[in-house]
Amino acid sequence: MTQTAPPLTPGPEAGPETWDAVVVGAGPGGLTCAAYLAANGKRVLVLEANQVVGGSTQVFRRAGNKFEFDVGTHYVGECGPGGRMQTALSGLALTERIKWLRQRPEGHCQIMIPGTTFQTPTGWDTYLERLIAAFPDEEQGLRRCVDVMRTIATRERPRRRVFSLLRWGVRPITTLMAACGLSADAQAVILAENGDYTWPPHRTPTAMHAGFLNHYLQAGAYYPRGGGQVIGAHLTDVVQSYGGRVRTKARVEQILVEGGRATGVRLQGGEEIRAEVVVSAADFKKTWAELVGDEHLTRKLRRKLDGLEMTLPMFAVYVALDVDLRERDTPPLAWVWPNNDVDGYYREVAAGRCPEQMPVGISCPTAKDPEGTHSAPPGYSTLELVSWAPKDYEFWNVESGPADGGSYGRDERYLQLKEELTQRVLDTAQLMIPDIRERMVFCEASTPITQERFTLTTDGSCYGIAPLLKNLGPFRPRVTTHIPGLFLAGGSTEHMFGINATIYGGMGTAGAVLGRDLVQEVTDGAVFVDEARLTEITEDFDPLLASKPGSVIRRPVRRRPRATA
Ligand SMILES: Cc1cc2nc3c(=O)[nH]c(=O)nc-3n(C[C@H](O)[C@H](O)[C@H](O)COP(=O)(O)OP(=O)(O)OC[C@H]3O[C@@H](n4cnc5c(N)ncnc54)[C@H](O)[C@@H]3O)c2cc1C
Repeated sequence: MTQTAPPLTPGPEAGPETWDAVVVGAGPGGLTCAAYLAANGKRVLVLEANQVVGGSTQVFRRAGNKFEFDVGTHYVGECGPGGRMQTALSGLALTERIKWLRQRPEGHCQIMIPGTTFQTPTGWDTYLERLIAAFPDEEQGLRRCVDVMRTIATRERPRRRVFSLLRWGVRPITTLMAACGLSADAQAVILAENGDYTWPPHRTPTAMHAGFLNHYLQAGAYYPRGGGQVIGAHLTDVVQSYGGRVRTKARVEQILVEGGRATGVRLQGGEEIRAEVVVSAADFKKTWAELVGDEHLTRKLRRKLDGLEMTLPMFAVYVALDVDLRERDTPPLAWVWPNNDVDGYYREVAAGRCPEQMPVGISCPTAKDPEGTHSAPPGYSTLELVSWAPKDYEFWNVESGPADGGSYGRDERYLQLKEELTQRVLDTAQLMIPDIRERMVFCEASTPITQERFTLTTDGSCYGIAPLLKNLGPFRPRVTTHIPGLFLAGGSTEHMFGINATIYGGMGTAGAVLGRDLVQEVTDGAVFVDEARLTEITEDFDPLLASKPGSVIRRPVRRRPRATA
């Protein structure tokens, strides 16, 4: 079946000369901000360098559209009733269009380290119980460690929270665990999911790790029905249904600052677009260093950029199997560590080496969304296997990054390394799926260079600026800037990274632009979108098609059986 994408955007001649707001980058942060601005009467233009909207939440299809893979939508917290995701989507009337599927309430993520298998539950009490059951000799230390993290991450005990925050929250999570006398195995289980922010434990403040655990422990983990692309597709629809425009293949080269004020942008190719307000939802470092430019930076900002570290980039392997893993009850989400030295792995990667044994996060979209229509035909499974690897171009034998026009895809050393790391990732995944190689009918890998190419992030980073103390809480970049008319959105801002945070934060940035407390208004029940104005969703709605204005996609619709195996 061949479909031509609907003309989602009006032609250039229909657009105004000057926009109220230009948003740079169509990731979840930029698109949510744009959707809220459009729904509040602003004329908004979103400019996206890639040919698909969604940023790291985009999907891609392979093998003649037989298999679909998520880049960065594996599991998301706080999506249940009353959660921040529902709040942020409710103001845009999108809660029925972007539906979140709860993942295994009894244990959403399986953690495997040698000798121990642990199911991450919902709720701090159950979490502690399971840790004690796994390590009965360490009950006292586990109680203390979990109590500190829980106190810091939740608002349950406000007075003690201040004390715990000052005493432990600012210190590395490894310091707390050592003070609690935890064994290497217990530490590894508590840290095992930290590939969700790819930062070494010995450099991670306890407050950061506790907040991360709480993100999933408070109400479980979720996955969007239909895959990650539904996020970009529906947010784009709001923007365009409310008079805005989303342009893909439109890379911003410069944010124009005139008379000390942001006045618009210049695209690669020279086209200039004027706007009252510019919102950059692109990479934080590149926004300032490249798009705005050194001459407009404050001394303080220049200092911050000089020493700014990014979270580590990922190496991902996308696999399709000719077996439906639901038949085997394989967990849809897992982290597998071939050894218990979590910090040790980071130290190696930081030194520019990639150890033989790589930790792997396993995500199985066909199991997370059994009714998903695009992920794979019945009888097949798709897997996204993620790990992390050195960022340096030398490691990958690449001279300059793809963002600067560097080419790499045919370099023999690059391809050889990619193959070697793919095999290491499969070795680890095999610990959970022993016949993964025998059942594999498709396999493709992506490197930090690939991530840089498709999202233009510094170092190919997946989660933005590093969660060091100097980048957290009051020290994290605000969405307002020292340049009037210039705002920020996305994962490196005060609202933090991850899909939930960037969507919620996009609403916050829109509020800052409008000079209103939009978050409070929406929390109080304000809805700015009339669903009747949005595009009608038919049975064969294809989120990828809706996210690629003007493209032609050959798409065989393959429905998976509704009944679970
Ligand atoms: C492999 C991986 C796994 C992940 N897993 C999870 C997960 O399980 N759960 C979770 O919550 N989060 C996960 N994340 C993180 C999550 O996807 C990000 O935090 C989120 O997408 C960040 O949104 P953003 O809007 O800040 O930026 P991005 O998603 O990075 O989007 C930025 C967009 O801006 C565009 N852009 C950049 N520069 C320019 C320019 N100059 N001109 C025009 N456009 C530009 C880029 O092309 C991109 O589309 C994962 C990320 C990755 C990569």
